Amino acid sequence: MAKKQFKAESKRLLDLMINSIYTNKEIFLREIISNASDAIDKSYYRSLVDENVSFVKDDFYIRITPDKEKRTLTISDTGIGMTKDELENNLGTIAKSGSLAFKNENEVKDGVDIIGQFGVGFYSSFMVSDLVTVKSRAVDSNEAYEWKSNGAEGYDIEACEKETMGTEIILKIKENTDDENYDDFLEEYKLKSLIKKYSDFIKYPIKMMMKKSKLKEGTENEHEDYFEDETLNSMVPIWRRNKNELKSEDYDQFYMDKHFGYEKPIKTIHSSVEGRVSYTTLLFIPKKAPYDFYTKEFQKGLELYSNGVLIMEKCADLLPDYFSFAQGLVDSADLSLNISRELLQHDRQLKFIGKKIKDKIKNELLLMLKNNREDYEEFYNSFGRQLKYGVYSGFGMNKEELQDLLIFHSSTENKLVSLDEYISRMKDDQKYIYYATGENIDKIEKLPQTEVIKDKGFEILYFTDEVDEFAIKMLAKYKEKEFRSVSSKDLGFESDEKENEKETEENKELFGFMKDALNGKVKEVRVSKRLKTHPVCLANEGEVSIEMEKVLNMMPDGQNVKADKILEINTNHEMFSSIKKAFVDDKDKLKMYANLLYNQALLIEGLPIEDPVQFANDVCCLIK
Ligand code: ADP
Ligand code: MG
Repeated sequence: MAKKQFKAESKRLLDLMINSIYTNKEIFLREIISNASDAIDKSYYRSLVDENVSFVKDDFYIRITPDKEKRTLTISDTGIGMTKDELENNLGTIAKSGSLAFKNENEVKDGVDIIGQFGVGFYSSFMVSDLVTVKSRAVDSNEAYEWKSNGAEGYDIEACEKETMGTEIILKIKENTDDENYDDFLEEYKLKSLIKKYSDFIKYPIKMMMKKSKLKEGTENEHEDYFEDETLNSMVPIWRRNKNELKSEDYDQFYMDKHFGYEKPIKTIHSSVEGRVSYTTLLFIPKKAPYDFYTKEFQKGLELYSNGVLIMEKCADLLPDYFSFAQGLVDSADLSLNISRELLQHDRQLKFIGKKIKDKIKNELLLMLKNNREDYEEFYNSFGRQLKYGVYSGFGMNKEELQDLLIFHSSTENKLVSLDEYISRMKDDQKYIYYATGENIDKIEKLPQTEVIKDKGFEILYFTDEVDEFAIKMLAKYKEKEFRSVSSKDLGFESDEKENEKETEENKELFGFMKDALNGKVKEVRVSKRLKTHPVCLANEGEVSIEMEKVLNMMPDGQNVKADKILEINTNHEMFSSIKKAFVDDKDKLKMYANLLYNQALLIEGLPIEDPVQFANDVCCLIK
């Protein structure tokens, strides 16, 4: 029989197909199995519209048979099959999709989700095979035909024997090369894992005879091999099952099986959306951050399925960075796939779904914050930092989106509170939202700067994460209320402010002398009204706070950033009379006092003393 030639262009196209559109050779199996599933779907459809055709569920399956000796991998199905013409048209013409035509010709009903559409997937088999044989017998036909091609030289079609309806694809697997281990595609375990990965949710059973081992009868430790037929795919994806039928254990099991995390998720979100773009999503919010979560290695993303077939393992576009902790998947029949089914040509639908998912996660978190505080705190413990980075990054472009999700430790409630809760408790004469920063709650609690604010009965938020103050500076305000550090110059106590100025004026020369004695380390020395029992503290002016100075200077490329520091003196403290006395009769002593007080203030802030030896000597001097 004369060999039929691919048209010249087709030949090149085939070459392109085989060598460049897929980044991953292993997807050939997904493509061949998807075709088999389509073929069975078509039989099922026939049974719906043609009463002479019956569909007995058990008769429909896909079988995978590797044969290491012959180096063949056979994928057979009991689907609708192909006539001679169909073999010629569908497999002999690149980019012709019989399945797409089928979808267009028939008003496809529920329960039929034809996967094929581009008419190229079949040729991916040539990535792993140098001879592809297709034996097929169509429904309503007594004849069977065999299509055969080595990929380059065209194809042959001739009559063959085949007892039953359906198609058998026999791939002669290539010999190993330096780069590629083709032998893998003849290994049961490898095939099983590929099916689990890409084709787990194909509706029809994918069967394979699996080699097993058992104790030989009558012996104690002699084993013998035997074969057992196994269905490798789970078929019905959990997310397509009815929510009412599912228990939380089912979701948790799925979460574990998928290796999304080791502990049960803190929240499971299962929803189906019908509309402009229809999709189903199953999302999980984990309890604990994975070990690499806060590193560059961590990859965010959701699994993306189209009609139950895996398209992408980690689709990053579906999640904003600040929700990168979410795990799970999206399944949609409305995606515009490109022909390799690896990337999306247009990301309009994807963007749309991504936005919906973002809103959904946010709403669920807000609900958790409101109704299930314990869970929310546990979640926040793991991922709060990510939310705060989210507020800070991108010049605060997402700050409004995230501000209601923030919680901080409160001085008055002694627990984590939201900004909204803080606002609701603000006193009539309270101008700002106060915060204090430090290494931990105990240390902040002891900060002298917090005394007067607490005294007025105002609540203070305690910031213990490095990112906290950066995020809050980005936020600047919440519901029209400005944030104010307890160390900032203006605390918004207007009456006190005037008195302060007066007293500072009275002691102008004294403070001027102390400032000079400190040799540029502080911008100003002045009276403090924020102190009650403590003698001194540092305050600050300008954008960079003392805490930020610490953080910025710890960074690898830290550029020695300095906060503008102000030394505040408690003029009601008894030590102040000694200061005044020294100003009159012993200026050298005052110099020493100034340094001692400044160093004390540094220690309280958790900042290092520049010259600890001098400090120690000065203290000894006092003891003498
Ligand atoms: P697509 O699946 O996108 O249509 P393929 O290149 O994978 O493209 O397949 C081309 C066509 O070959 C299919 O549309 C279908 O008509 C036919 N075909 C492939 N495999 C089978 C099969 N196992 N049974 C019946 N028809 C098949
Ligand atoms: Mg296909």
